[in-house]
Amino acid sequence: MTNFDPYSRLIFLDNEYHVSQSPNQHKVLNPANLNHEGTIALCSTQEVEQVISRAKEAQQKWKREDEKTRARILHQIASSIEDGDLSEVAKLMVLEEGKPYPEAIGELANCAPIFRYYAEMARDEGGLLPGTTQTGSFQFSKYFPYGVSAHIMPFNYPIIVMCWTVAASLAAGNACIVKPSEATSLCTLKFMEHFKILPSGLVNCVTGGAETGQALVESKNINAVAFTGSVEVGRSIAVSCARQMKPAIIEAGGSDPMIISQHAPLDVAVPGCVMSAFHLSGQICVSSERFFVHEAIYDEFVQRFVAMTKQLRIGPGLEESEIGPLVSESAREKVIRLIEEAVSNGATIECGGRIPLHLTQGWFYEPTILTGVTKDMAVMREESFGPVAAICKVGSFEEALDLANHTDFGLGASIFTSSMDEAFKAYNILEAGMVWVNNPLIDNDALPFGGWKMSGIGREMGRQGLDAFRQTKMGVIDTKPEIQDWWYPYSDDWFYSGKGRQV
Ligand code: NAD
Repeated sequence: MTNFDPYSRLIFLDNEYHVSQSPNQHKVLNPANLNHEGTIALCSTQEVEQVISRAKEAQQKWKREDEKTRARILHQIASSIEDGDLSEVAKLMVLEEGKPYPEAIGELANCAPIFRYYAEMARDEGGLLPGTTQTGSFQFSKYFPYGVSAHIMPFNYPIIVMCWTVAASLAAGNACIVKPSEATSLCTLKFMEHFKILPSGLVNCVTGGAETGQALVESKNINAVAFTGSVEVGRSIAVSCARQMKPAIIEAGGSDPMIISQHAPLDVAVPGCVMSAFHLSGQICVSSERFFVHEAIYDEFVQRFVAMTKQLRIGPGLEESEIGPLVSESAREKVIRLIEEAVSNGATIECGGRIPLHLTQGWFYEPTILTGVTKDMAVMREESFGPVAAICKVGSFEEALDLANHTDFGLGASIFTSSMDEAFKAYNILEAGMVWVNNPLIDNDALPFGGWKMSGIGREMGRQGLDAFRQTKMGVIDTKPEIQDWWYPYSDDWFYSGKGRQV
């Protein structure tokens, strides 16, 4: 690694790297071979408070900048990302997380546009000016930032998901503190270099696990929280924020359905399903996990899905492979538990279902397809977050929709069909924050991203993603002071007419 020692226990504060004061550390292991790639600090509450107080100071000036100035600087961040060499960050992501290199560099290549998008959106509309209710009274509302926002990030898309909320928060006039996952802190620290363009102290990064995250969420000096991660942690953060009336966006997990209709174009549906089930070893919040396949095309679909899945190359992310390791031993153990439970209840393993024989060092697992799965099995109720596609045969499109909605999650949902009628029906009936017809996994900076039901509260991206980091203030300004006719004393008319009076 050039100019960066991934072994030191760094934090990013005031546009510089500092060695953390914390004596507590966490070893970063490469999930592909269990090599020790670096050490991160587990920042204490006291250190977190010091960072917050610096961010708070920096925000005092930033919130007073005009929107055009803020936009100019956000565009500079975007240019720095576009013009920079992202390969070092990508390599760190591969070493820490196990992500295949093309996916790591692909993630980074998509980070700049959100800064440009929010730079202009915050400039485009700063509030609301409705018709007045009283002649001569100026009645309006403007947006104001909250203060300092905390960004608690998951391991799977550490940089782009951070950019979605950091860009919005900065554009709204806040300062940010990022707390990456323990599994992706080194690449996040390295990426912080792009924020050096900002006034010092506006974006900072502290490392650590649950305790560091809690210190941020519970601090009275953190004014808004953006969390992306599991349902369990998301719920505890939402409760914690509710206690302090602190706004929080909770982007939690899912167990997305994929419907293969009898009208599905199988030449497209099969490769689409292989991608949506196994991309990043199934560790995408919107991976397709539960498959509902119409009986008319079931045999052909399963045979082709299995054949293509068997072609996937498994290996470390810096070698030519599509399927990297899972992020941790516990992640792989969960996948094994779900598969074993399904098989013991009657499911069949069509392919995979084991640790690859030539890759026993890291946390690899073969892409696995299960058939004969029923809705009560744990693999259909829990998020596997691994390379497992569980297939149910269905007799009708309506049955597929019912089973797809039979879940506590509601993040995304997909369908392959060439029927226009089914496409719109699926969009309208599926209970999810995102529905994809013939094109799974795609997102758009300009469209809200987030889940229904247990999959979360609030939205990232789109206008809602910006509004999450700004609050309105209604203003009524009468330049000429006048006594209003509805003030005390009340007239006899009001007492005896039987009618109220509109103001
Ligand atoms: P996780 O919930 O284990 O951890 C997420 C973050 O929370 C980490 O930074 C972790 O250190 C921190 N954390 C853990 N306990 C905490 C606590 N008590 N208080 C404060 N912070 C705490 O999730 P993960 O394993 O990193 O990521 C995988 C999960 O993220 C999956 O469930 C996936 O579906 C979800 N995810 C959702 C989206 C979305 O947009 N909805 C996107 C990506 C990932």
